[in-house]
Amino acid sequence: MRYDGCKRNRGVRPLSDCLFCKIVEGTIPSRKVYEDDSVIAFHDIQPQAPVHLLVIPKKHIATMNDCEEQDQMLLGHLLLSAQKIAKEAGLAEGGYRLINNCGRDSGQVVFHIHWHILGGEKLGPLNA
Ligand code: 5GP
Repeated sequence: MRYDGCKRNRGVRPLSDCLFCKIVEGTIPSRKVYEDDSVIAFHDIQPQAPVHLLVIPKKHIATMNDCEEQDQMLLGHLLLSAQKIAKEAGLAEGGYRLINNCGRDSGQVVFHIHWHILGGEKLGPLNA
């Protein structure tokens, strides 16, 4: 699966507006831990746990609500990549939380779909 760039992605949001597209392109630096043709992962700039990584598709999709049937392979690949990344970060034994925020009420602030991997300690309850 190849990165087709934001411009070809249904015009959900132009490349120039999107922070994570800029991280994909390398115009904003990140501490990358994983990359393949369609997915990258990097450290969150404001970690909420000892390990806090973000896993994103290179393709710009704003939210879960914007995913379509054609994104099925990409989403499956992204989740399996997240599993691999969490293992490589040493989280397999203790476990980890994998979170996607979708839309305003969830607290989503970056509108390029992403999954948080949180771990490295016993996490508190959700919504605490
Ligand atoms: P959201 O609330 O949209 O699910 O999460 C967005 C995440 O992106 C936040 O945890 C925030 O700390 C992280 N973030 C925002 N700006 C940057 C940045 O420039 N670089 C990195 N690495 N993470 C960022």
